[in-house]
Amino acid sequence: MAIQVTTETIKKALIEQEFKLYYQPKVSMVTGKLCGAEALIRWQTPEGEIIPPDQFIPVAEQSELICEITQYVFRQLIIDYSLIGAINENIKVSFNASGKDFHNDHLTTLIVNAINSKLIEPHQFEIEVTETVLIDEEHAKAQLNTLSNLGVAIAMDDFGTGHSGLVELTKWPFSILKIDRSFVVSINKSNKEREILQATIRMAHQLSMDVVAEGIEDEATYRVLQEYGCKTAQGFWISKPLPLTQFVCFVRDYNDLSAMPIGLIYMAQLDHIQWKKNIIDTALFLHSSNENRSLDNVRGCPQLDHKKCKLGQWYYNEGANFKHIPVYAQLEKVHCELHQIGADLLQLAQNKCSMETLSSAIQQLTEKSMSVLYDLQLLENYLHIDQYKLDDK
Ligand code: C2E
Ligand code: MG
Ligand code: MG
Repeated sequence: MAIQVTTETIKKALIEQEFKLYYQPKVSMVTGKLCGAEALIRWQTPEGEIIPPDQFIPVAEQSELICEITQYVFRQLIIDYSLIGAINENIKVSFNASGKDFHNDHLTTLIVNAINSKLIEPHQFEIEVTETVLIDEEHAKAQLNTLSNLGVAIAMDDFGTGHSGLVELTKWPFSILKIDRSFVVSINKSNKEREILQATIRMAHQLSMDVVAEGIEDEATYRVLQEYGCKTAQGFWISKPLPLTQFVCFVRDYNDLSAMPIGLIYMAQLDHIQWKKNIIDTALFLHSSNENRSLDNVRGCPQLDHKKCKLGQWYYNEGANFKHIPVYAQLEKVHCELHQIGADLLQLAQNKCSMETLSSAIQQLTEKSMSVLYDLQLLENYLHIDQYKLDDK
């Protein structure tokens, strides 16, 4: 490397505008469509040499210089987005910020001003932060909460490399979990490691976080992660990071991957089983309680609105990809009936009905629940058959 990486040379490069943003595409594993890109910085020297970020970001992170870099990246991203968004308005662009960026409100103010001036909208970009943000907890949390309340999605980057657990992270406004490449490759290791990965994805789902898998280098890994219920994919198998002009061509010429949201059907099945167990547990608790409790006073009371329970959230969002299949409409009817039975069951339990009436209501709920599971199974079968047809072509 001809250039010495020091604070001084980085400062000079910022003034000379030698930093460029590359974009690495992200694909929705639910629809197979392009859904985003991560902006990744490169230092392009006047001699044409490209210096990767891991050779200068750690130097910049030792001082406040990193904040100048992040602000530069965000400003550049806004400019680039006017081109990217014009070609595909569904693409969200994420950028990396460092923990130091949230020790004061400079970055937050820059972002808030950009949003208020309509230079970019909150749903058009995401911020990726690593565990370094957890260091100055009080300040960082306040900044991230401000941004999150504005509708900006915040991702925990490189999950699986640090020490923090998922439960701790739920105290922060993270709505996305980016699983690090080193964790993703555990798919090719032992059964135990695969199961940890699978359980992590499941847990993130339960905590209402979307999971992005980084570093997908082959189709087999992509398919396994899709089965595990991962929603978004990023990696060399889809594309390496590209300079803006090449990225724009990539977006323009992209052919959708096959949609195979199988993992989310498994999640929906599990969510449903959990919901049903929850309803029965709540009914038994209410029935046996000496007090007359209202549902608001029951800890962990299941969601009674069929559009808001986890199955309902899936149904009206990602599940809508099955709209063209007759069983999709049928599932809605059965699911609504199930919720009515669930609400009636809780009402009966609150009114201290006889044990016989309670048992019969539980039986009715169980039977309807089997119909829900049956319809979900039909959707799953449909996907498998569809996949065969695609593989045959
Ligand atoms: P990151 O944010 O986790 O970004 C993902 C890194 O993984 C990128 O490396 C990307 O090129 C690489 N990658 C993605 N898919 C694959 C794959 O399938 N195989 C392999 N081997 N690698 C893959 P990159 O661009 O070298 O960036 C490295 C790190 O530098 C980033 O990790 C991020 O922590 C940091 N970085 C990059 N740009 C910025 C920036 O603008 N600001 C800050 N603060 N950090 C940045
Ligand atoms: Mg990142
Ligand atoms: Mg990462």
